[in-house]
Amino acid sequence: MAILPNPLVYPIYLMPPPAHSLLGTALPADLHRSRATVHIVGGGISGLMLAYQLHRRSIPIILYERSERVGGWLSTRQSPYGIIEGAANGLMRCIELDAMVADLGLAYQMPLATNTKRYVVRGGQLRRMPLGISEILQAAARFLLPHRPTKPLATLRDFVDTYLSPVAALQLLEPAMLGIDAAPLSELSFSLVLPDLARIQPRYASLPWAMLVDSDYRRRRRTTGGTVSFAGGMQSLVDALERRLQAHIRYNTDGINNLDNIAPHDVRVLCTPAYESARFFGQHPLADLLRQVRYIPMLSATFFVSQETLKRFKAGFGCVIPRNENYHTLGVLFNHCIFEGRVAQPNLASLTCIAQDSAATQHLDEASILDLLTNELERLLGLDAPPLYSVLRRYHHGIPLYSPELNGLLPQISAQLQRDWANVRLFGNYTGQISIRGMGQSAARATEHIG
Ligand SMILES: Cc1cc2nc3c(=O)[nH]c(=O)nc-3n(C[C@H](O)[C@H](O)[C@H](O)COP(=O)(O)OP(=O)(O)OC[C@H]3O[C@@H](n4cnc5c(N)ncnc54)[C@H](O)[C@@H]3O)c2cc1C
Repeated sequence: MAILPNPLVYPIYLMPPPAHSLLGTALPADLHRSRATVHIVGGGISGLMLAYQLHRRSIPIILYERSERVGGWLSTRQSPYGIIEGAANGLMRCIELDAMVADLGLAYQMPLATNTKRYVVRGGQLRRMPLGISEILQAAARFLLPHRPTKPLATLRDFVDTYLSPVAALQLLEPAMLGIDAAPLSELSFSLVLPDLARIQPRYASLPWAMLVDSDYRRRRRTTGGTVSFAGGMQSLVDALERRLQAHIRYNTDGINNLDNIAPHDVRVLCTPAYESARFFGQHPLADLLRQVRYIPMLSATFFVSQETLKRFKAGFGCVIPRNENYHTLGVLFNHCIFEGRVAQPNLASLTCIAQDSAATQHLDEASILDLLTNELERLLGLDAPPLYSVLRRYHHGIPLYSPELNGLLPQISAQLQRDWANVRLFGNYTGQISIRGMGQSAARATEHIG
């Protein structure tokens, strides 16, 4: 039975995110007629994909990138042992990305058959289903029963306390979320992280029923496949976008400083991290709002080891590790099992450990962190020889924390932009979509009305 949402009990931080994640006034539909140029600051994947969508519609653009290369976090490095991805190792497919990839003349690299197995660690073991039969039955009963939450679900913790059994939350949802959003359930916003579920949850007493019958929910969840990459890694996508946009990119240019000198009717889009975009707004309260966006310090370390030195390894996509297992690592990607060509020789394994750069590691140097993570691979996968090659990447400002506070900040930022800075927009991995797929969909949707 449907329950009508009551706006009084739904404070602003629970409002569903906008249909696309460009903050500020929608891009003008008559950009062709007005002959305005769109100035995009930041050549990370968000800026590149937005520039691509506008360029495809023959809108004049200039993309400013502060460094000598575009791609931002996305970069694929070659090593004598195989390739090493910076940040994303793949992307989830969707109609919008499929169209862009085909138009760029690229072909997806499909995952290997071994990619389908995903593990959760329980009692130190890699398990495909970490729950026992009685725990599964308990979890299913709890989920299937109709619910009428007495308070709004602000965090994912509120969601799991209502709909899931404690063991399912601990063993399944929390490790998955820690692996993706790098934060515990109590710090993540239900509406921002699971927006499609958050949209239907207040309207139905039974969530599984809603997931089956709500056509809007089913339409939004439709994908065109799972995780994919490109031969040569994610850099191939960056390179193809760069080739397409080359004539419009200004390298080694601080775009924020440049925006003061452009025609007043031109459009400005800041695709830089929130703390960087804050600089543009000087003393305006928007600067303060943007500085409130929190980023999680993160570590990712890629290890190349000989396969025979992994005594307890199981082929698969990777594993996530619940907090009660007492590892620093949140998840491990088994790169050589996900895509072909990730290792230089067939007897090698490539493993990427993702972790928070927390109080326990922030004071450690690179070698000590690699030692710590190597010890965890020994414990987890039975690694019994030192890695052949390892590379650590530290993200002081890692991924943005998709917290209830951010869910409250985004509408405020958008409203202030519309009111005081009508020709400035913000776009990036903190504006509502963290993944490449989400940002790719947003870039397409934010430009589709332009004539
Ligand atoms: C460890 C890790 C793993 C991840 N794995 C995945 C995954 O598997 N799949 C997935 O979809 N996503 C993944 N992500 C998330 C995804 O990689 C990021 O959200 C995305 O790359 C961020 O892109 P962006 O354009 O928002 O920002 P950035 O990559 O930070 O780009 C910002 C750009 O702006 C430029 N810039 C900054 N200031 C200025 C200025 N003043 N003027 C001009 N230019 C400026 C910077 O040089 C940079 O090029 C992962 C993230 C991390 C940290």
